[in-house]
Amino acid sequence: NFIRKPFIAGNWKMNMDHVQGITLLQKLAWTLSDAKHDYNRAEVAVFPPFTDLRGVQTLVQGDELEIVYGGQDLSQFDSGAYTGDISGQFLSKLGCAYVLVGHSERRTIHNESDEVLNAKVKAAFRHGLTPVLCVGEGLEVRQAGTHVEHTLAQLRAGVEGLTAEQAAELVVAYEPVWAIGTGEVAGPEDAQEMCAAIRAELAELFDETVAGKTRLLYGGSVKANNAAAIMAESDVDGLLVGGASLDPAEFANIVRFES
Ligand code: PEP
Repeated sequence: NFIRKPFIAGNWKMNMDHVQGITLLQKLAWTLSDAKHDYNRAEVAVFPPFTDLRGVQTLVQGDELEIVYGGQDLSQFDSGAYTGDISGQFLSKLGCAYVLVGHSERRTIHNESDEVLNAKVKAAFRHGLTPVLCVGEGLEVRQAGTHVEHTLAQLRAGVEGLTAEQAAELVVAYEPVWAIGTGEVAGPEDAQEMCAAIRAELAELFDETVAGKTRLLYGGSVKANNAAAIMAESDVDGLLVGGASLDPAEFANIVRFES
C-alpha cells in the first residue's frame, strides 16, 4: 500500500572488484528469483564502484535482470580536463539510471560542498540520471538537537534551481552520519521525523504534489532485522544500505522488508 514505489538500494562503497561484483550481483539475482521477488513491490538498485559498471551492465542486460544500478558519484562537469572524475554522460551510456550525490563519505573525505553537490544534482539530470541526494547530520549536530535544521539546509542547497518535475523525480536519502557503518541505527521514529520534515520542506519549496512524489530513503546500519520497522513509517519510501548490501542473502531479505 505504498503511494510511492519503494526503492531499496545497496551502496557497495569501495568494495568488490569487477569480478567479485559480478558474483555478488548474480547471487543477489538468484536469491531474489528463488524468493519470487516482485519487482513491482520494490525497485532494487545497486551502486557498485565505477570499475564494475561495465560488467554489471553486461550481466543486467544479458540476463534481463530488473535490477537497476548507478554510480556512487559523478562530476559536476560534462567533459574536459578533470583528471580522475567521471562524467554523468559516461554513466548514462553504461545504462545507469541513478547516481548517488553527496554521500557523507564524499562530503567529509572529499570536502564536497553544498554548492558543488547542487551542480552535481543538475549534471545528473542533464545526463538523464536520477540523483539520489544524500543528506544527514553528524553526531555533534544530533547531540546539539539541531539535526532537522542542519539536514534541511543541506536539502535546500542541493535542490536549488531544480524544476518541479526534477524535484518530483529526485530521490533523497536521509543518512545520519553517526549511524553509518557504526551499528547504531536511528530508530524508525527518527527516520520518520526527518523524512516528514524533508517532505514538508519540499512542499514549501515546490508544492504538495511534488513533495508527494519525491521518494525519501533512510540509510544507516540497515539490516534485515530492522528494515521492516523502518519501512513501516509513512514518509520512508526506501532504504540505502551499505555494509549489509555486500551479503546477498541479507540484502535480499532487506529487499523483502518483512518483519
Ligand atoms: C551507506 O553507506 O549509505 C550506509 C548507510 O552504510 P551502512 O548501511 O553500512 O551504515
